Amino acid sequence: MSTKHGILSIDQGTTSTRAIVFALDGTKISSAQKEFTQFYPDNGWVEHDPEEIWKTTVETCKSALHDAQQKGIDVKGIGITNQRETTLMWNKETGKPIYNAIVWQDGRTAEFCNSIKHKEEWLAAKTGLLLDPYFSASKVKWLLDEVDGARQLASEGKLAFGTIDTFLIWRLTGGKSHVTDTTNASRTNLFNIHELKWDSALLDLFDVPASVLPKVLECADDFGHTEASLFGKSLPIAGVAGDQQAALVGQCCFAPGDLKSTYGTGCFALLNTGSKALQSKHKLLTTIGYSINGQTTYALEGSIFTAGANIQWLRDGIGVINDAQESQALAESLDYDHGVVLVPGFAGLGAPHWEPDARASLYGMTRGTSQAHFARAALEAVCYQTYDLQQAMASDGIASSKVLVDGGMVANDWLCQFLSDMLQVEIERPKNMETTAIGAAYLAGLKLGLYTDLADIASHKKIEKRFTPNINANTRKKLLKRWQKAVDATLAFSRN
Ligand code: ADP
Repeated sequence: MSTKHGILSIDQGTTSTRAIVFALDGTKISSAQKEFTQFYPDNGWVEHDPEEIWKTTVETCKSALHDAQQKGIDVKGIGITNQRETTLMWNKETGKPIYNAIVWQDGRTAEFCNSIKHKEEWLAAKTGLLLDPYFSASKVKWLLDEVDGARQLASEGKLAFGTIDTFLIWRLTGGKSHVTDTTNASRTNLFNIHELKWDSALLDLFDVPASVLPKVLECADDFGHTEASLFGKSLPIAGVAGDQQAALVGQCCFAPGDLKSTYGTGCFALLNTGSKALQSKHKLLTTIGYSINGQTTYALEGSIFTAGANIQWLRDGIGVINDAQESQALAESLDYDHGVVLVPGFAGLGAPHWEPDARASLYGMTRGTSQAHFARAALEAVCYQTYDLQQAMASDGIASSKVLVDGGMVANDWLCQFLSDMLQVEIERPKNMETTAIGAAYLAGLKLGLYTDLADIASHKKIEKRFTPNINANTRKKLLKRWQKAVDATLAFSRN
């Protein structure tokens, strides 16, 4: 039997850690997943225990590697993808974290961010981001200011900062590598995405000493080798990208104009803008999509705070449906002129509005309004919101030519068709929905020479289904106009 090669992908997410071994053609060979504890120590605070993240990583990797070996797969290396922005610091001498990891959703630094809000435009020009507690910089400052002895340790050169990728690589290599990749660095608010280096003026703004920073490598690079004692043999770590960027690679969005949109609890849309870092005028983020072989590819990013969560609300919040799947048949049972619009501002409205205090509203109900209207309006809303993002991206400089979707919600055919109708582009749904994990594996495989180039990677991609626009132009126009009216009314209500 000839030995088949494989790549281990570590997908360290917000609620669970997964390890998956992929064959080079993208087939899943083995996988393991472990959830871990979410800590909410105070109002708006969210933390993870780094030791638990480490433990779940080692355990899932061991399990996936063992199963792959049983199947005769020779794993050649590791790719890592991770929840972005989540921040931790550890003692370089002992390897021990000085505090829990502060999770991206954590809002404890809102006051500090507000106090320097006047710097936002200046900061956005360097980092492509907004001044928001979401990003790592203010979290690093908090750790340095609030944890006893942290600044002293930093001044002695003994303190390390890292996002989750950096921490895992540090541990996997037995403390030999203190590194990150450009995509993770680009989410910290400390990294200049144009000059591709840590920015001293930003370090001053957040009062972060340069000594704590990891070295920034490309996404397909030499991040170090795992300690042999961990997995029975030493493996190279050769690919790293933050979760949304890994999905961009996993969806093979390699051409400017390719848009990937992930519909899970929320929705994240990333548009490949090629070598241009477009500065958004619509509150989209400019971020590094990936950097490979000395070439940096940028992306515009927009998010919809609640997507599948709207459906969860119908099911768990108000009991209108019994399971998410039902929403498809219900939506199909109505015509375009059903008249009901949901503006799902359950957690505020994201780009292009950035109205965190907006709240959800439902318009156009009559005595004939039924559960079908709720389901249909909830699905339509996600498509209208994606349309708004697409329009914002286009007016920032690049129109999307193709949209590649993934996430739990796109199992819904009706949703995919309506999305194509609103965006007026072809929607592709891949066979392999593990786009994030496979993206990290692809990056590692590229560095290890298992793929020759991006075209070689793309040649393995299999499309499960394509959806093409199929709606009367007038109907579309009417629907979009009605949506806009509902959004305006919702914004007006939240601003009063
Ligand atoms: P996450 O990774 O954020 O946990 P997933 O990608 O697993 O999310 O997607 C789960 C979400 O997709 C849930 O919010 C669920 O309501 C929604 N969902 C699942 N199946 C369908 C469906 N057939 N139609 C609409 N929404 C769905």
